[in-house]
Amino acid sequence: MKRYSVFAIAREALRDHMGWERAWASPEPKKTYDVIIVGAGGHGLATAYYLGKNFGITNVAVLEKGWLGGGNTGRNTTIIRSNYLQDPSAAIYEKSRSLYETLSQDLNYNIMFSPRGVIMLAQTEHEVRGYKRTAQANALQGVATEFIPPARVKEIVPIINLDGPRYPVLGGLWQARGGTARHDAVAWGYARACSAMGMHIIQKCEVTGISRENGRVTGVTTNRGDIGCNKLGLVVAGHSGHLADMAGFRLPIESVALQALVSEPIKPCMDCVVMANTVHGYMSQSDKGEMVIGGGTDGYNNYTQRGSFHHIEETVRALIETFPMVARLKMLRQWGGIVDVTGDRSPILSKTPVDGIFINCGWGTGGFKAIPGSGWGFAELMAKGHSPLCAEFGLDRFYQGRFIDESVAAGVAH
Ligand SMILES: Cc1cc2nc3c(=O)[nH]c(=O)nc-3n(C[C@H](O)[C@H](O)[C@H](O)COP(=O)(O)OP(=O)(O)OC[C@H]3O[C@@H](n4cnc5c(N)ncnc54)[C@H](O)[C@@H]3O)c2cc1C
Repeated sequence: MKRYSVFAIAREALRDHMGWERAWASPEPKKTYDVIIVGAGGHGLATAYYLGKNFGITNVAVLEKGWLGGGNTGRNTTIIRSNYLQDPSAAIYEKSRSLYETLSQDLNYNIMFSPRGVIMLAQTEHEVRGYKRTAQANALQGVATEFIPPARVKEIVPIINLDGPRYPVLGGLWQARGGTARHDAVAWGYARACSAMGMHIIQKCEVTGISRENGRVTGVTTNRGDIGCNKLGLVVAGHSGHLADMAGFRLPIESVALQALVSEPIKPCMDCVVMANTVHGYMSQSDKGEMVIGGGTDGYNNYTQRGSFHHIEETVRALIETFPMVARLKMLRQWGGIVDVTGDRSPILSKTPVDGIFINCGWGTGGFKAIPGSGWGFAELMAKGHSPLCAEFGLDRFYQGRFIDESVAAGVAH
């Protein structure tokens, strides 16, 4: 793989850009692999990457039924933060956030990480207490966050209205090194690095069955034939229930649409991410100038992967109280993704009842931020059979009643 660099840009500029290589290869599937990962979203690709980088396992295929990054990874609002309450969550999200800091250099691909800061607004006394508690927990966990007063919120976000009619702003949980990244670039960067290690990324390859013998996985059936493997990682977000069904076990998970929308581009007016969990809306400004807006999940389980009018109305109505300027914006696009939500709002990174099958799912509305950390831990789990980062996120927690309750941290979408 030729490295991307300023010299490469200069060289290609002089020869009409005819020397760029394809970023990743599109090979035919082999008969068998050491490891198959189902799902070429961020989590599947990151898992493959760290299997190769950290454990030297490169006889790997990533099978994707559509195009890579075409699931939730290419549909999210790109917020990155690690201000979670419980220790296991803070550990994996902070590992992830810290990997994001240098991911562009690591992958030799500009993922446009922008640590512009994230504020979670406190708009009720209950939230004030909750976020102060999170700030204290974060201090013990080594995650840099602070609870800031309303005047400081106004300083950071001049366009905010502190005295909303229903919910005045009483402060906020501020994470200065939280921010955003370019979601497609994260998938593309990992894919390019995996391909450079000789891994196979096979798009338009849908897994339709999972073969087992004596309680152990032997391979998968796909629309491009049967493929054998020693180990299988299921990393398919909202479709996890289907894949688990193919493997003969059930998951404590629900699939539901989560929607987002963007406005017309406007001049720079907000240089951080603001989340308003009480009214259920959040907003940031993209590099193009569009206001990127998201809200809560649909109130019913579905697989629609598209937007709906009632959602625009609810989310925009909520945000107008805190950001009156939103009322004057024209909305350009709206879309949806199918997210996988667990009862305790924490992910599942686990062995399964079938020997050789591992599952990574349940990131719900907030898994973009977790991609590097999840890939790091899940690769270790698949390679070695255990991983300190994943230890608390096993399927066994649901029958042991050992929940990792993050319903506050995950309170609004993402
Ligand atoms: C509107 C919206 C906003 C969001 N905002 C944020 C945010 O701001 N911050 C944040 O951290 N998170 C956010 N999220 C959540 C985040 O996008 C997801 O948690 C994360 O992208 C999940 O990544 P993944 O790799 O697990 O899944 P995906 O990216 O969905 O990848 C799974 C892949 O599996 C493939 N697949 C499914 N079934 C099969 C099969 N049978 N065979 C082969 N392939 C299959 C799918 O096609 C898909 O490409 C948001 C999500 C949405 C929808």
